[in-house]
Amino acid sequence: MEFKQVTLGAKKSIALIAHDNKKQDMVDWCQEHKAELVNHKLYATGTTGMLIEKEAGLQITKLISGPLGGDQQVGSLISEGTVDVLIFFWDPFEPMPHDPDVKALLRIAAVWNIPIACNHSSADFLIASPLFNSASLRDVPDYAAYLAKRSVSF
Ligand code: PGA
Repeated sequence: MEFKQVTLGAKKSIALIAHDNKKQDMVDWCQEHKAELVNHKLYATGTTGMLIEKEAGLQITKLISGPLGGDQQVGSLISEGTVDVLIFFWDPFEPMPHDPDVKALLRIAAVWNIPIACNHSSADFLIASPLFNSASLRDVPDYAAYLAKRSVSF
């Protein structure tokens, strides 16, 4: 796999999503890290975003609610390079009507090599990284060779 290096500014675009049983955990995490999070551009799926705004007082760009397409919307923001970091507290115990969207989102985060945290402690590690609050270089997969091969086979 080839990579292109792109410069990531100190101000990151961060997507926040929490399943219902994890929403309090997400609110707690946002309250704990409010001082750092205010310096970034925050996106969230509808209900998660509403709760974070209300309980943690952070300004959020709210997307569609997860079960109605919000996870897919975040996936599309990752694919187009708008979202740099994903904090996604998914529930390992409850089956969801939108499980395929959850899987698709985790796949897209892997496709684009973005940092993701799926629980409170990994989110703590991420936000404690010196890369979180400073400008840095990020390796973005370069799919040009992959695309060229695909267009030959059609
Ligand atoms: P919500 O969506 O923030 O609108 O609850 C989250 C999800 O279930 O994916």
